[in-house]
Amino acid sequence: MKTVHPNSTIGVFGSGQLGRMFAIEARKMGYRVHTFSPDADTPTGHISDVETTASYEDLDAVRDFAKAVDVVTFEFENVPSATVEAAAEFVDVHPRGEILHTSQNRLREKAFLSSNGIPVAPFRHIKLIDDLLRGADEIGFPAVLKTAGFGYDGKGQQKLLSHADLEPAFAALNGQEAVLEGFIDFEKEVSVVCTRGIDGSFAHYGVIENSHANHILDISFAPADVSAKVAADAVEITRSIAEKFAYVGTMCVEFFVARDGKLLVNEIAPRPHNSGHLTFGPCVSSQFEQQVRAVCGLPLGSTEFFRPAAMANLLGDVWANGEPDWTAALSLPGVSLHLYGKAEPRPGRKMGHITAVAGTAAEAANLAAEARRRLMR
Ligand code: AMP
Repeated sequence: MKTVHPNSTIGVFGSGQLGRMFAIEARKMGYRVHTFSPDADTPTGHISDVETTASYEDLDAVRDFAKAVDVVTFEFENVPSATVEAAAEFVDVHPRGEILHTSQNRLREKAFLSSNGIPVAPFRHIKLIDDLLRGADEIGFPAVLKTAGFGYDGKGQQKLLSHADLEPAFAALNGQEAVLEGFIDFEKEVSVVCTRGIDGSFAHYGVIENSHANHILDISFAPADVSAKVAADAVEITRSIAEKFAYVGTMCVEFFVARDGKLLVNEIAPRPHNSGHLTFGPCVSSQFEQQVRAVCGLPLGSTEFFRPAAMANLLGDVWANGEPDWTAALSLPGVSLHLYGKAEPRPGRKMGHITAVAGTAAEAANLAAEARRRLMR
């Protein structure tokens, strides 16, 4: 097993906030960071030693990048497979490109999960309108139609309530492959953020409870308000997915908790995850530090929480009435501010988040929400 020692250079595909927080932790540990993405002046670039701005399709630039670094990881899972393969000619890439390939596409991901006995919502592969008509008959309504590729935060999703919705929804796919899923009347949504080391070691933060607004994560808190059985099952399912993938790095599994307590996997994120931002500060080792440790072949750190914690996302909407009232929010004890260095606060754009710690997870969630309310004058 090769250890990539501090003062070596970690290459990162992608340049958003996940890469930024990864780079903060990597630099804390004395690593150099080199980010590669099509953009310039990026959240990750601000913290990196080197920022390469080139298209993911520019394989010469990708190879030059790979030759300049000691190990490669990514913060953006829609990096093309050919890009990862070109980098892997020169340097180890964690997690493996094959995992990226599987989780980039909802169909491949669902097929992988169900063939490994992991519970998921009923689904059908949709290529033709006939697939959709038959699938809707079999699955019933309501259902959700999702494009197979490049979907996150509810992008490319349509809820179907009756037969009348089928043809327009199919037309809106514009020829893209899709997955039809049964709509789950869930009690809550939870996630498990875990890290698997090169040596097969496994660490997790327990179960995090998530609420969404307009399909985008809004508030997370930990520990989740679930039974010991649900918590143990969620961790066990996560562990088995990490094992089946022979995963190296930090990964998140998102679940629906059905009203009967049954868990269904909604999605896998092959990288640190928005719900795991509440580990950055409130835990001994954050999800980003764990990613650094895993991809560099170091032992994983402690995932212990100092106190129950919560996170509230800050979208561009928080800037709607002008400069947010930072003083009002930060005067609350237990609250910390994370901003991603993005210049333009567009509505719906993830600009930052607030973490809060308190005596209980519910109190922490209320505190994070109150801090966010105070930002908006
Ligand atoms: P996704 O992009 O698949 O993670 O979906 C974003 C959000 O849409 C999820 O976190 C759920 O709140 C909701 N959603 C997605 N799929 C389903 C489903 N099959 N049943 C109910 N809600 C869903």
